[in-house]
Formats: sequence, structure tokens, C-alpha cells
Amino acid sequence: MSSWGACAVDQGFIEMAKDYRAVIREHKEPIIQSCCACNAAYWPPRLRCSCGSAELHWQPVGPTGRVVSTVGVNVAADQASERMVPRQFLGRLPYTTVIVEPHAWSNVRMMFFAEGLSFTTSQTGASVCLSAETTGDTVTLVAHARNVVST
Ligand SMILES: [Zn+2]
Repeated sequence: MSSWGACAVDQGFIEMAKDYRAVIREHKEPIIQSCCACNAAYWPPRLRCSCGSAELHWQPVGPTGRVVSTVGVNVAADQASERMVPRQFLGRLPYTTVIVEPHAWSNVRMMFFAEGLSFTTSQTGASVCLSAETTGDTVTLVAHARNVVST
């Protein structure tokens, strides 16, 4: 896969996080980092590869992945403060998050908001479509079940 540019690791974590969100906003897809020296891949982003290199590039994760695990979040409305539930998910309770291995990067695991997936173990192993939603400065990685493909 072709790179979507160098990560701003030399500017520190806060600037790199801004860079991460900007690349997602531009391309409207989830991304990971890969190391130019050893090709290791990472999510969430980091400042340096385990091989020592700081030459990390943004890469698209591809359109699909496999669900590795699911977590259901169901908080009583009176307890759903910003401290317990991310702001962008307050109106979506109860919701499910999933850990996904992208098909193109099977050595990386990423967390996604699950659209149309319930909190059941039967979802483990399902193929899902991956996308990114952006609202203002917020980026949400979304795994869609409506196009689930049998594996
Ligand atoms: Zn490396």
C-alpha cells in the first residue's frame, strides 16, 4: 500500500495526534502507522517504532477487517457523564465497540465503534466494513455490520 505521508513524530505526541486526525479528515478512512525501516505497523499511533526508528508513515487500513472481540457499553442515563462515555457516544447508548484486525494489516488491532453489531460472542470472527466519521475535531472509527461478509 502507498503511504499517506510522514507522521509528525518529531513534533511530539500532541501535534502527531492533530496530524492523525487531519489525515483521517482528508482521506475519510481509518489509518495506521507503519515503520519505514522495518515495516512494523501500529495503532494507536506512537512516536517511535520498537526498532528505534522515528520514520513512521500513515497508511490506509483498507476497507475491511475481522472482529476479534466485542465490548458492550450500557450506562444508565443519569450516570452517562463525559467522564464515563465519550461525548460523541452519549446519544448512542447502549453501544458496542469492537477490536478489529484489518484484512490488509493482520498484525494490527484497532478499536472501532460498531454500527449494527450487537454485544454477542457470535460477532467474533465476522468481517466488517471499516470507515471513519469526522465531526469538528472528533474522529470516530466505525465498523459497519450491514455489509458483513461470511468468512
Ligand atoms: Zn521499525
